[in-house]
Amino acid sequence: MNAQITRGLCYIAASILFVFGLKMLSSKATARKGNIISSIGMVIAIGVTLTAMTEIRWLWIMAGAGIGSVIGAFSARLVKMTSMPEMVGLFNGFGGLASMLVGWSEFHRSWATSEEISLLTTVAIFLTVVIGGIAFTGSLVAFGKLAAIIPGKPILYKGQNIANAGVVLAILALGVFLCTQKLDQLDTLQMKFAYITLMVLISLSLLFGVLSTIRIGGADMPVVICLLNSYSGLAACAAGFVILNNVLIVAGSLVGASGIILTNIMCKAMNRSLTNVLFSGFGAAVTSKKGVATQGQAKPISAEDAFLILEAANNVVFVPGYGMAAAQAQHVVCELGDLLAENGAEVKYCIHPVAGRMPGHMNVLLAEANVPYELLTEPQDVNPTMEMVDVAIVIGANDVVNPAARDDQSSPLWGMPIIEVDRARTCIVLKRSLKPGFAGVDNPLFFKDNTRMLFGDAKASISSLVSEFK
Ligand code: NAP
Repeated sequence: MNAQITRGLCYIAASILFVFGLKMLSSKATARKGNIISSIGMVIAIGVTLTAMTEIRWLWIMAGAGIGSVIGAFSARLVKMTSMPEMVGLFNGFGGLASMLVGWSEFHRSWATSEEISLLTTVAIFLTVVIGGIAFTGSLVAFGKLAAIIPGKPILYKGQNIANAGVVLAILALGVFLCTQKLDQLDTLQMKFAYITLMVLISLSLLFGVLSTIRIGGADMPVVICLLNSYSGLAACAAGFVILNNVLIVAGSLVGASGIILTNIMCKAMNRSLTNVLFSGFGAAVTSKKGVATQGQAKPISAEDAFLILEAANNVVFVPGYGMAAAQAQHVVCELGDLLAENGAEVKYCIHPVAGRMPGHMNVLLAEANVPYELLTEPQDVNPTMEMVDVAIVIGANDVVNPAARDDQSSPLWGMPIIEVDRARTCIVLKRSLKPGFAGVDNPLFFKDNTRMLFGDAKASISSLVSEFK
C-alpha cells in the first residue's frame, strides 16, 4: 500500500480514537478509559507524522519529548487537586505558544527562501499566530490570577474598551496587509517590511491576550479558562492548515469545539451569555460590590447536635464546594455518606457545574473517594424536590448556594443558577467563618432560620460527625 494512503488511514484511526475518547470523557464511569484511548490516538498521530518526515533531527525530537514527558509526569503527580485550574491554564497557554511558533516558523521558512505562499496558508498563519498568541498570554494571566501572583480582581481603567478595540483593529489591518503580500514578488525592503508586520502582529496578539484577561475577575474565571482552552484548540487547528496536517486539524477542531461547548455550559451555570463573555469586556457585569446587606444572626451548631439532626434524617443531600477541596475532606465525606446510608437515610451528592475552581472539580474529588457515580446529581434534579430534603449539608460551598443569586436583583450573583439548599428542611453549613466565597459576595443563607453553621475545617468537622456515628 502506498505510504501516503497508510498515513491517511492511521490519521483516520487516530481521529476516531480522539472522538471515542472524548465521548467517553463525558461520563464519569468511562472518563479514565477515554483518557487512555485518546492518548493512544495521539501516540499514533505523532508516530506516523514523525516517520513520514524525510529530514528529521531525532535528537531534538527525543530531547523535547523526553523533557516534556518528565515535566508532565512530575506535575501530574505533584500538583495538588486544588491547583489543577492553574495547571490547565498553563497547558492551554503552552498549546497556544506551540501553535504560534509553528505559524511563525512556517512564515519564516517561506520568507527566507522567497517562496510563493498561498492566500489560504497566509490566512492560516495569521490565525495561528494571533489566536495562539492571545491564548498564550491570556492563559499566563489566568494562571497568575488563579495562583494569586497577580490580583484576582478585575483591572479596569478609563477608555479600556477603546484601547482594546484599537488593538483588535490594528491586528485586523496588519492581518489584511500580511495576507495580501506575495513573498516571491517582493523586493528586499518590502520583504523586511513584511517580516516586521508579522513581528508587530505577534506582539499585538500577545498584548491583547493580557489586555483582554486582566479585566476579568472573580466568578468569571472558569469561563475564561474554558474559552482559552478553546482558543488553544483553534490555534492548533489553524496550525494544521499551515503545515497541511490533517490529524492536527481534527485534534485542534475537537479541542476548539469542546472548549466552546464547555464555555457555553459554564456561561449558563454562571448566568452569563457567550456574546457577553466574548465581546463585552468580561467581568464588567460582575463587580466587587456586595448585594443588599445580609441581616440576622448566624446560628452555630456543635458536631454533637449536628449528629442528632443527621441521625434522624430520612434523606440527606451533600453539597460540596471549594472548601471540601481545600480541606481534602472528600474521603471523610464519603465515609459519612456511607454511615448515613447504613443508618437508613437516602444519600445524594449534588454538584454545581462551577463548584470548586475548575469544571468537574467536585466530580474528580468524589470519584477519587469512590463515591458511587449513581449518587451524584445536578442542581436541576435536586432543586424541584428540595422541600422534601431533611438535611442539606453544605461542605465548603458558598457562592453556588447563595440565595441572593435568586432573590436579590442587586447582587452581583443575580441570575446565577444555585443549589437551593435554603429550601431544605434543615441546612447545615460547614465552613470556618462567615467570610464570603470566591465572588466576594455576602451570603444570606448563613442567617436563615433553618440554617445551622458548623464552624471549623471541613475535614475536622466531618471527622467529628463520623466519630459520633461510630
Ligand atoms: P466558594 O464560593 O469559593 O466558597 C468556598 C468556601 O469554602 C469559602 O467561603 C470558605 O469559607 C470555605 N472554605 C475554605 N477552606 C475551607 C476549609 N478548609 N474548611 C471548610 N471550609 C473552607 O466556593 P463554591 O461555592 O464552590 O463556588 C465556586 C466559586 O468559584 C464560584 O464563584 C465560581 O464561579 C468560582 N470558580 C469556579 C471555577 C470552576 O470552574 N469550578 C473556577 C474558578 C472560579 P471560610 O473561609 O469561611 O472557611
